[in-house]
Amino acid sequence: MSAKSVAIVGAGVSGLTCGVLFAERGYRTAIFAKQIGQQTTSGAAAAVWFPYDAEPAEKVIPLALRTFDVLADLTHVPESGVSMIELHQFSRDGEIQIPDWAIQLGARPLSSVATGLWPVRDRAQRDGYSFKSGFSLRVPLMDTTIYLDYLAARFRKARGEIHANVRFEKLEEVDSKFDLAINCAGIGARELVQDTDVEPHRGQVAIVPKIDGLSGAIVCDDAPLMYAIPRTNDCVFGGTNEVSDNLAADPAITRRIVAACSRVLNIDKPQVLAERVGLRPFRRSGVRLERDRLRDSRDVIHNYGHGGAGFTLSWGCACEVLETATL
Ligand SMILES: Cc1cc2nc3c(=O)[nH]c(=O)nc-3n(C[C@H](O)[C@H](O)[C@H](O)COP(=O)(O)OP(=O)(O)OC[C@H]3O[C@@H](n4cnc5c(N)ncnc54)[C@H](O)[C@@H]3O)c2cc1C
Repeated sequence: MSAKSVAIVGAGVSGLTCGVLFAERGYRTAIFAKQIGQQTTSGAAAAVWFPYDAEPAEKVIPLALRTFDVLADLTHVPESGVSMIELHQFSRDGEIQIPDWAIQLGARPLSSVATGLWPVRDRAQRDGYSFKSGFSLRVPLMDTTIYLDYLAARFRKARGEIHANVRFEKLEEVDSKFDLAINCAGIGARELVQDTDVEPHRGQVAIVPKIDGLSGAIVCDDAPLMYAIPRTNDCVFGGTNEVSDNLAADPAITRRIVAACSRVLNIDKPQVLAERVGLRPFRRSGVRLERDRLRDSRDVIHNYGHGGAGFTLSWGCACEVLETATL
């Protein structure tokens, strides 16, 4: 396959990252999407590098590690909105297992999670919330309020075009002047290519003002899911993960999230600046990264089903898409 003009469906992190790679390598590249940037699921993400809620591990981990390296390089580009952050991963239930890939990246067990390792040290003794165990690891953090715009600007600079408010019923509707389509439709792939394996894993977050003294990210995946992720200008409190299509924010869930995060951080409940909901595009049979044929015999490369790890897998997947296109 040696495509010259490429149409990408989707302007979330997957579509924009593929767009940057193809356009910077000289392909005539256009992105078509119903929604762009902040309006997409990607705009609702936290978005910290961590392989979460995506399958299968043997495919996801190498893609995540490949992405890690690119994102770590982007921390040297101030306008990208990517920085390194200390991630504290906790368990409420028992001894946490540090995954092999995390050890490889320098993860360290947290020896005393009950006292000295609180993120907001000066308030640590006021109350008593304690996790059972944890580990810490330095990972890339993408501030989505900056990073998605950075990708779009980089894509346009490489002469890429973005067409918003375009909704396709099927991929064959992509203009025939494009000889390759790349499907980065996220949860939209359910209808676009009738993939019943795609499942919406609904996530709700609350955006609160910056929290004094909180420089690292605090995450606990044991139910109920809890995380506090400090960004450049604010902080993301989460979260939820349930199978649901409901895009409306639930005020009761926001109250529960804010209460849980405040208790863990030992702070007074902050004001809520915004609530965001997104549908993680989980795919039961795993991330779909493969070449296929449209009914009109043009080529398509699918790149969707990244679940709760679309940022974490973005560059690894885009590189594979590019490699598939040049085979
Ligand atoms: C609360 C929350 C927290 C998260 N935290 C993290 C995190 O910390 N780290 C991480 O790596 N990931 C995280 N994720 C997951 C991450 O957000 C997703 O995996 C990622 O956004 C998927 O990106 P995407 O570009 O594939 O899809 P999307 O961002 O959903 O973009 C899909 C694009 O396709 C377009 N589209 C769909 N159907 C059509 C159609 N028929 N015609 C035209 N256009 C169409 C849409 O308009 C959109 O532009 C989180 C998600 C949520 C909800």
